[in-house]
Amino acid sequence: MGMVAENIEAIRARMRGAAERVGRDPDSVRLVAVSKRQSLEVIREAMACGQTVFGENYLQEAEEKVAALGQGLAWHCIGHLQSNKARIAAEIFDCIETIDRLKLAKALEIRLAELGKTMPVLVQINVGGEAQKAGVTPEEAGQLCRELQQFPHLRLQGLMTMPPFFEDPEESRGYFRRLRLLGDELAAQGLLGRHGMVQLSMGMSGDFEVAIEEGATLVRVGTALFGER
Ligand SMILES: *Cc1c(COP(=O)(O)O)cnc(C)c1O
Repeated sequence: MGMVAENIEAIRARMRGAAERVGRDPDSVRLVAVSKRQSLEVIREAMACGQTVFGENYLQEAEEKVAALGQGLAWHCIGHLQSNKARIAAEIFDCIETIDRLKLAKALEIRLAELGKTMPVLVQINVGGEAQKAGVTPEEAGQLCRELQQFPHLRLQGLMTMPPFFEDPEESRGYFRRLRLLGDELAAQGLLGRHGMVQLSMGMSGDFEVAIEEGATLVRVGTALFGER
């Protein structure tokens, strides 16, 4: 068995274990394989293991990979997106996890309408309030979610976050919990959950099990799956 196959099997087992520890259905959590700066070869290895959802940060790189690897896969945008790149993003992605401002949403809506395509989206939350990170504050989230309701081609499905980095994953737990509570609050206001289960994208290589214990429905794992970039 190749390295990617071994890693993916181990990650799936750890994901299942984390869900079961807190009495969650393991099938309610999906693995987003973060393939940024990884070769087509290793991505194909993951595909051979049945992996279909991939996360990319950089538009040009994503465009090349989507063109090379074709259909049947779901590509999630997990990086910062410029409004003037909305046309390409609307074409190549299957989900945009990083909606953080109205201007970007407007630009995407225009392009999606032209394509006749609807796009599942998540609002990116800066749970740690870090100056260098994208995302709206938890306090601003309600307003952006409300504004997104006016765009018929955007399907607001939930929230995404990247908390501050800690060596000890237990230190991330409070931030993940905060995202889940925010999701509950926005769902209670009727702003989330109109398009099925509320999605929470949180947890990476170092802390995805804690994120699942706190309610993640999408975990974004790169290094633990593909190795160092
Ligand atoms: C790179 C990246 C990941 C994956 O990080 P790993 O630590 O390699 O698992 C997840 N989410 C986002 C937003 C990223 O940019």
